[in-house]
Amino acid sequence: MADTTVLVVGGGFAGVTCAQQLAKRDVDVVLLDRNNYHQFQPMLYQVATAQLAAYDIARPLRGIFRHDKTVHFHRTAAVSIDPEARSVTTAAGSVLSADYLVVAAGAQANFFGTPGAAEHSLPLYSVNDAERLRSRIVNVLDATEERPELIEQGSLNFVIVGGGPTGVETAGALAEALRDVVPVRYGSIAKSAKVRLVDHGDVLLKPFSEKAHAYAADRLERDAVELHLGVGVKEVLPDRVILSDGTTIMTRTVVWGGGEKPADAVAEAGLPPGHGGRIDVQRDLTVAGHPQVYVLGDAANIPGADGRALPQLGSVAQQSGAWAARNILDQIAGKQPTDFRYKDKGIMAMIGRNAAIAEMGPHRHEVEGPVAFAAWLGVHAALLSGTRSKIDAFIAWGWDYFSKDRATAIVDQPDDARIDWDEDDDERPEFDAHRDDQEARDGGT
Ligand SMILES: Cc1cc2nc3c(=O)[nH]c(=O)nc-3n(C[C@H](O)[C@H](O)[C@H](O)COP(=O)(O)OP(=O)(O)OC[C@H]3O[C@@H](n4cnc5c(N)ncnc54)[C@H](O)[C@@H]3O)c2cc1C
Repeated sequence: MADTTVLVVGGGFAGVTCAQQLAKRDVDVVLLDRNNYHQFQPMLYQVATAQLAAYDIARPLRGIFRHDKTVHFHRTAAVSIDPEARSVTTAAGSVLSADYLVVAAGAQANFFGTPGAAEHSLPLYSVNDAERLRSRIVNVLDATEERPELIEQGSLNFVIVGGGPTGVETAGALAEALRDVVPVRYGSIAKSAKVRLVDHGDVLLKPFSEKAHAYAADRLERDAVELHLGVGVKEVLPDRVILSDGTTIMTRTVVWGGGEKPADAVAEAGLPPGHGGRIDVQRDLTVAGHPQVYVLGDAANIPGADGRALPQLGSVAQQSGAWAARNILDQIAGKQPTDFRYKDKGIMAMIGRNAAIAEMGPHRHEVEGPVAFAAWLGVHAALLSGTRSKIDAFIAWGWDYFSKDRATAIVDQPDDARIDWDEDDDERPEFDAHRDDQEARDGGT
């Protein structure tokens, strides 16, 4: 038994990487997650549009740490966090405390108080969200095939809220499925299906360059996505969306990619909230006044080299997890923690087959098409490598998707598009796609 304990809340990129680095040393780690799996969020929309099955993008946390005897995983949600005591109260009712507390609980949808949005729209943050969206898409298509009159009620209008990477990538994948798959499966109703993307800003992919804004808009419009820019969503009702300019769009499928905020337990922990409600951390990733409390990844505003907060990206989360582990080990050894230095790999978005855009490295060298897609694959393969020993199947999937005219999987048989990851077949997550995160909040196992 080691002398020092570290409690890590959240088994995403940040929490897993931190625990993995600590596992190499003589430190006891308790890792909590409300789910029993680690998920690969960058490919959630491929699950939502049935290109992949849910278990292709999730890995069991117990499996990831099966050789690390000092990492103890608990499947339960943190319902409250006490930074003074470095303790967490879990949904199962226990109070866990440790010498160091690492908060890496990621983000959730922020509806910004939009009436009806929480009730009637579908966010995309977890495999359960992705499966729910896929089911909704299948349901509206099936129902419309039976009763074409539903088209008048907007059954085939798919509204995506948010023109950031999540909204743009989801709109691209959905438009592609409507173009390539739905006509084959559902015949003539397909021509009535329409993707509409709404954003109150004037451009898509705001953090990217002007050229990228135009590229994304052009690619989506070529796939018949209708752009509603410069308008916000005023209200979401069960059967329609009302926009700030008075437009009403009849729909049964509203995807919310309109913003994010940290998990409730993090927001309510009494830590200093900054932009986006995320916790402001110091350059060494600790919270001011709490030298043994770290907040990482999407839960934090992490200052970059220029002092501005780094974006919410997998590579920021992963690198911050590794850096926090190193700082904790330094602190245990009696040394000062050091300031986080992010190796900037750039920003990228995959809008669809043959349509990727990447601004690579700190100087944002911009590329499109095959080179951008290769960059996307490389960066995401690096993210995957933390939790999978073999990533060649991922690369093969990527090139297959990109370079060949391979039809997207049909929506009702997602296994058709299953990646053979070549490994861990006995290691699938004890993954109950319909076990909602809520259950874990209510108790956990
Ligand atoms: C649809 C989508 C597409 C994206 N695409 C890309 C992309 O292409 N490239 C890229 O770099 N980034 C992408 N991102 C962003 C990237 O996925 C995140 O920046 C990254 O996952 C953040 O890692 P994290 O560890 O901070 O949080 P997460 O990966 O969100 O992990 C947080 C973990 O905490 C758990 N948790 C939450 N609340 C609690 C609680 N109360 N108790 C216990 N556990 C809890 C969650 O179950 C989860 O496992 C995308 C995000 C989304 C949503």
